[in-house]
Amino acid sequence: MNTKPTALVLGAGMAGLWTARVLLDHFDQVVLVEQDELPAQPAFRPGAPQARQYHILLLRGLQIMQQLFPGLDETLLEAGAVRFDAIEDMKVWMGGRWLPQFRSGQMMLSCSRVLVETVMRERLMEHPRLTLLEGGKAVGLVTGAENGSVGGARIRWRERGEEGRETKIRADLVVDATGRNSRAVEWLQQLGYPRPREVVVNSFLGYATRRYRRPHNAPDDWRMLLVSAQPPDKPHGGLVFPEENDIWCVMLAGVNRVYPPTEETGFLEFARQAHPELYEAIRLAEPLSPAYGYRRTDNRRRYFEEMSVWPDGFVVVGDAVGAFNPVYGQGMTISAMTALALDAILAQSNGDLRGVARRFQRQVGRVLDPVWLLATGSDLAWPETEGGEDLNALSARFARWYIGKLLAALPHDQTLRLAFLDVNQLVQPVDSLFRPRVAARVLRHWVRGG
Ligand SMILES: Cc1cc2nc3c(=O)[nH]c(=O)nc-3n(C[C@H](O)[C@H](O)[C@H](O)COP(=O)(O)OP(=O)(O)OC[C@H]3O[C@@H](n4cnc5c(N)ncnc54)[C@H](O)[C@@H]3O)c2cc1C
Repeated sequence: MNTKPTALVLGAGMAGLWTARVLLDHFDQVVLVEQDELPAQPAFRPGAPQARQYHILLLRGLQIMQQLFPGLDETLLEAGAVRFDAIEDMKVWMGGRWLPQFRSGQMMLSCSRVLVETVMRERLMEHPRLTLLEGGKAVGLVTGAENGSVGGARIRWRERGEEGRETKIRADLVVDATGRNSRAVEWLQQLGYPRPREVVVNSFLGYATRRYRRPHNAPDDWRMLLVSAQPPDKPHGGLVFPEENDIWCVMLAGVNRVYPPTEETGFLEFARQAHPELYEAIRLAEPLSPAYGYRRTDNRRRYFEEMSVWPDGFVVVGDAVGAFNPVYGQGMTISAMTALALDAILAQSNGDLRGVARRFQRQVGRVLDPVWLLATGSDLAWPETEGGEDLNALSARFARWYIGKLLAALPHDQTLRLAFLDVNQLVQPVDSLFRPRVAARVLRHWVRGG
């Protein structure tokens, strides 16, 4: 192992935690700075407001967790996470029908986001070379020794609820993992770097999430119930997602500016409009919380990888680079995938950090490209969607047409269903859906379907 003295990670959300974990293999010291005071038990905190909403860790994310945090999946299960088969235990309403359920052998884990984050953080804190500093807000970068490089960050410490004194933390590598509200673009501009291209695709999706006690007489043909909205004119969707402590996390999702209400009657009525089975499942269940709404769901990408100049010593990860329509449940897994990419690049660098940040940022772009296509693709089918003009190239339009045909074939073809599951769960690249074996099946169904 070639070690460098210090890495500094700004933000202890999911991207910050995954990244801090890999940095421990390459740096003597890893310092994690978080603006919130972090709760000892799984609990909501203001710095990650989306955590009240349902969060699923995709299969690829679970695999990476098993690799980077061995045994953590068992810890989650002991804490009450639910294991379920991604097809057999998930009842899905899509395209006006229920998809067949059959054993896929692909086992997922479901629990609250606050539980995943807490057990990961606890595991990291066991590491003697990791320092977690709470109540510190990153407010800017510090220049490094080399011309144009970054050598640390300025942190403002919260004192008795007030914004307090400011200090500098020096580091050989600074990671911005501060999420959607990241100031990375402004920080870079202050150092004389240009603004990167930024693209927003917004289908005006809104969530409302309420937690219920799982009823004793809950249906036994599913563990998770998913009702998909259907473009262009069926904007009501929702799901029932099992969490620890026998909780049902019920999330209603409305697209195209049809937002789910958070008061009782409206919430239930929206569920009924999504599907009567969703409504029946929760109608008599005991609510454990109010319904919380959430609307900051646009796909937002900053193309740092296109910048002709990039400072050594600084990288941006997680939602700060690319935040996605959350319906596809990709964010936590993508940040795990980019953490692995950073690990590989640092391993190749032999301790020489020159050019590492730039190589990594380009690699992040490569990880995000196909996922961006998946996430924005179906958003463009909603009439109210804004943005995405750059996604109208012939190749992108063909890809969307083809995926539409593939989705239409899913109820009739288990092989295609499994192939799509792998891509949807980020286990296989999107390209795998275009392989001749898969394409032949899609086209056969299309032709037969008329
Ligand atoms: C409604 C909704 C539902 C979602 N559902 C899913 C899902 O089902 N599955 C999934 O994988 N992903 C989901 N996501 C995405 C997921 O939340 C994020 O992609 C993932 O958590 C990675 O985000 P992050 O760590 O970059 O940012 P965050 O999780 O937002 O964490 C950022 C952290 O940085 C801290 N911070 C912010 N500014 C500063 C600062 N200046 N200084 C210090 N600390 C700072 C914050 O307090 C926070 O702890 C969802 C997102 C939304 C909005």
